[in-house]
Parts: sequence; structure tokens; C-alpha cells
Amino acid sequence: MLCILCKGDMKNGKVNFPVDAGESFILIKEVPAQVCEQCGEFFLKDDVAEIIEDIVKKAKGTDVEFEILKFAA
Ligand SMILES: [Zn+2]
Repeated sequence: MLCILCKGDMKNGKVNFPVDAGESFILIKEVPAQVCEQCGEFFLKDDVAEIIEDIVKKAKGTDVEFEILKFAA
């Protein structure tokens, strides 16, 4: 798979994924992703994106304004 921005090679890697969830801001660490070797752009697989959605939904139910979580599948 090639990067949509620069057509560089995408490799399996991990990224820190920031989520702006309105009232709160969540940073999810060590999210598995395809990462561009050239520009650092990353792409999340559908199953990973779904897990992140769940994490964000749960985090929205709390009063925490800023949260750093570790991705765990
Ligand atoms: Zn790129």
C-alpha cells in the first residue's frame, strides 16, 4: 500500500492518535497503523478505527478533560 499524500511506502508501525471529543481531548498511544516512511502520514485499519470509536464513546461518559490512554486490542 502507498501513501495517499506522497506515494511513499507504508509500513506497519504504531502511532499516537489524538481525538478531539468535544468536551474532552484524548490521546491514544501505541495505536497499530500503517505509517508512511516518507512523510509520517498514517492509515488505520477498519477494526482499529472501530476500537478507537469505542474508546472515545467510553471516555465521553466521564468528566475527564484530558486523557492519555494506551491502545489495547
Ligand atoms: Zn507519505
